[in-house]
Amino acid sequence: MNDLSLKGVARKYAGETGSFSVKDDILNGTGSLRTRLEALAEEEISFGVSECIYGWTAAFEQVWTHVTVRIDLDPDAGITASTVNSLQTTWENGIESTWSDQWATSRGGELPCPFTFEVRWVGSNEHHEVRIRPGAARSNMTTWDTLDSGAVAAHEYGHMLGHVDEYPDSNCPDRDPVNTGIVMDDNSANVPSRLLDPFADRLGTGLRSA
Ligand SMILES: [Zn+2]
Repeated sequence: MNDLSLKGVARKYAGETGSFSVKDDILNGTGSLRTRLEALAEEEISFGVSECIYGWTAAFEQVWTHVTVRIDLDPDAGITASTVNSLQTTWENGIESTWSDQWATSRGGELPCPFTFEVRWVGSNEHHEVRIRPGAARSNMTTWDTLDSGAVAAHEYGHMLGHVDEYPDSNCPDRDPVNTGIVMDDNSANVPSRLLDPFADRLGTGLRSA
């Protein structure tokens, strides 16, 4: 967890306006400010996505400018624990470096909070279950393979956040836009601001460069 905006969280989630007392209005007299702010700002987000012939459910947790996706990996028989371990490192690095610290949000006079993205590998309470099969194969949001790079994982993570594909697909001749050169097109580490707009909109703030 990096930055939390005290004023931003208090305004949005505690209904505070104007000047307020951290001790009386936010902490209620006791506890850690960060713990209290995180609890106020924590939102479990889930919504249906439909594009062309494809449909799925986006799901993640947003705590102010920090987004976490909990993934339960389900490897096929014969894929060893050490292989899974090494894939987790590759995928986590690819996902977090692609999505994090590209954009930030703030209002006038407040410190900008960079948006950061995390993947957490879990055995229960997951947002998404992902099968791992032997590669090379054709991956999608819920089926990855042992040869998938961090860049592929970053693309599939984008679907979990609710983003659609931007590459040409003969099954979807009307898809628009395509060939955009971003993570949802060709897996490049390019995240334009429009992909972060929904996260800033949820906070009621605008985007700026991180
Ligand atoms: Zn895709």
